[in-house]
Amino acid sequence: MKLTFLGTSHGLIEPERHCSSILLEVGDCAFLIDGGAPVGDILVRRGFPFERVKALFNTHFHDDHIFGCLHFLSLINWYYKSASVDVFIPEAAGVNAVIGLLRAAEPFSELDRVRVREYGDGFSYDENGLSLRAIRTRHLSWAGRPSYSFVAEAEGRKLFFSGDLSDDLSDLSDIVYRERFDLIVIESAHQPIETLLSALRGMNADRVTVNHICPQEEKLPRIASAAKDYPFELRSANDGDEIVF
Ligand SMILES: [Zn+2]
Ligand SMILES: [Zn+2]
Repeated sequence: MKLTFLGTSHGLIEPERHCSSILLEVGDCAFLIDGGAPVGDILVRRGFPFERVKALFNTHFHDDHIFGCLHFLSLINWYYKSASVDVFIPEAAGVNAVIGLLRAAEPFSELDRVRVREYGDGFSYDENGLSLRAIRTRHLSWAGRPSYSFVAEAEGRKLFFSGDLSDDLSDLSDIVYRERFDLIVIESAHQPIETLLSALRGMNADRVTVNHICPQEEKLPRIASAAKDYPFELRSANDGDEIVF
């Protein structure tokens, strides 16, 4: 499995960071987790064929996790006729908004190559060499809205992607302590750095990468200096970073 960080910023665009998106490669297939970065532009500049992307999994319908991929989806809808993608969004309002935008741009489209669907608790995906399951979080529970972490498995490797969490990390799934992961990617925009550093203790992983960091000037040096205190490789993510595991 290969993970590429297309965007590592928090809710705002930073000079050196796009908003949240990662690309997962499994053999010839690829998958996006969140689409906050300008996915189409980045893939074209990398010479990465749209045809390889089989699915996009949106952790929650906040702009920094979905708005950047809309042009990519629209291009598949009307131009890249050999590409085809399933898009999974955890809210009907988000599904309807994306479908409405694609249809407004191309009113006669059947949307047969961009299949936008709602998912919810218990969701799992098992196609194209990837097994992925969703775990509910409480990032948006105050608004009565869903959000999810993901566990992705492929090629005998296992990834945990936290999505956005609550401000006390009480919704961080305990499977990061109970199950073994090759890589854990955890956000750090919504909780104090001490809460994050404490939650990292006991994580059962070879590598832990911190993503979606805010405020960066405070947290980046703290993460770098704390890395020696953990038995796994701890680092923060930058746009363009690639991890093969
Ligand atoms: Zn976010
Ligand atoms: Zn969010």
